Amino acid sequence: MKLIKNTKVMFIAVVLLITSLLNACSPTWSLSIEKPDGSFIVFQSQDYNDLLAADTITDNVALERLFWLAGHTLVDQITLKLQDQTIQTYTWKEIAPNTTIDSQGQICISDSCVHAQSISVKAIEVTDQISVSIMDIAPTIASALGIPAPNGSQGKTLTDVTTNHVIAILLDGLGYQILSDSSLRGLTPEIDKLNPPLLASTVYPPVTRVAMAAFSTGALPEENKVTATSMRNPALETIFTALANFEKQSIAIEGESLPINLIDCRIELSGDRDGNGSTDDNVLNNTLNILEQEPLPDFLFIHFHGIDDAGHTYGLDAPEYAAAIQYVDQAVWQVISKLPQNSLLIIFSDHGMHNSNSPAKLGEHGHLYSEDMLIPIIIYPIH
Ligand SMILES: [Zn+2]
Ligand SMILES: [Zn+2]
Repeated sequence: MKLIKNTKVMFIAVVLLITSLLNACSPTWSLSIEKPDGSFIVFQSQDYNDLLAADTITDNVALERLFWLAGHTLVDQITLKLQDQTIQTYTWKEIAPNTTIDSQGQICISDSCVHAQSISVKAIEVTDQISVSIMDIAPTIASALGIPAPNGSQGKTLTDVTTNHVIAILLDGLGYQILSDSSLRGLTPEIDKLNPPLLASTVYPPVTRVAMAAFSTGALPEENKVTATSMRNPALETIFTALANFEKQSIAIEGESLPINLIDCRIELSGDRDGNGSTDDNVLNNTLNILEQEPLPDFLFIHFHGIDDAGHTYGLDAPEYAAAIQYVDQAVWQVISKLPQNSLLIIFSDHGMHNSNSPAKLGEHGHLYSEDMLIPIIIYPIH
C-alpha cells in the first residue's frame, strides 16, 4: 500500500517538473495595445499561432495586424512602453514595413528586438470622417437588385436605388487621395462628371486579394478567411453566389487572372492579347463586346488593373502612371455611354498606393497608411 502511495507521489512530482521545464522553454508573454476608444486589448503567447496563420507574408507577424485587430484603420504614431518603464515613440510610416512581433512577444524594428509592456496608438485625424467601407458594396448591389445581402456580410447599403442592372468597376490601386490629386491635375475629366467619391476604407492588409474577398463577401478578412495575399478562397457566401441563389446572372471581366477563386459567375479573362504591356485595353474591348452583343446581365463586374501595375513599375510620379489613370478615365466613359437607363454604376478601388522609400520610389501598398487604406466609392445611378 505504501509503495503504491509513493509511486503516485513520484508520478505527480515528475509531471510537475516536466510542466515547469516546458514553461521555462516557452515563456508566456502578453502585450497590451491601445484601441481607438482608449481602452486596451491584450494579446498573449497563446494567440501567436493564430496570428501567424493569418499572416503568411513573413516568418514573424506584422505588428500592424495587431493594430488592425485592435480596431485601427490608419496609424500615425506608436509609443512603446518597455518593461523597464522607458518610452519609445515612432512615426509609423518610418518603421511599418520592417516592424514585426516574434513568437517570444518581442517587438522587432528591423533587427533590433525589445520586450514591450504596452503600445499606445495615435490614429490619423481623418479616421472620424470615414463612415463607408469596401464591405458596404456587396450589400448595396444586393439591395439594388432586390435580394438579401450575402450571408455573413456586415456592410450597409449605400443607396436606396433599385434597378435591374448593377455595373461595378474596380479601378485597382486608385486610392482616394490619388483620385483627388488626379482630378486636380485634370487627369479624370469623365470620372469628375459623376457623383463625388465617398471617402471609404478598405481592409487590412490593403492588397488586391484580401480586398476582393472583403468586397465580394461584405465581410471582414477575419470572417471570410482571406487574410493574406496567399489565400484565394473566401469562406463566406459572395455576392455572386447570393445572386445565383435568386437566379440572377453575373459576369466578371478580369485581366490576366482572377485575384480570388470565384464561383457562380461567368468569368471573362482578357489577358494582354496585343502584348502592349497593359490588360486595360483588352478588358475594355471585352466589356464593350459584351455590352454591344449580349443582353446585359443583372450584375457586371469589371476589373481594370493598369493603374496599379503602372504604379508598381514606374512609381506614382511617372508620366506612365498619369497615362494609366487617363486611359481608365476614358475607358469608364466608354462603358457608361453603352449602359442602359435605370442601371446603377458603382466605381471603387481595392486599395491605394504610396511611393516606397527605395531610391527608385516605386509604388507599394499593404500598410495602415491613409494612402493605402482610403479608397473612393462612387455610387452613380444612370437615369
Ligand atoms: Zn489591387
Ligand atoms: Zn498592387
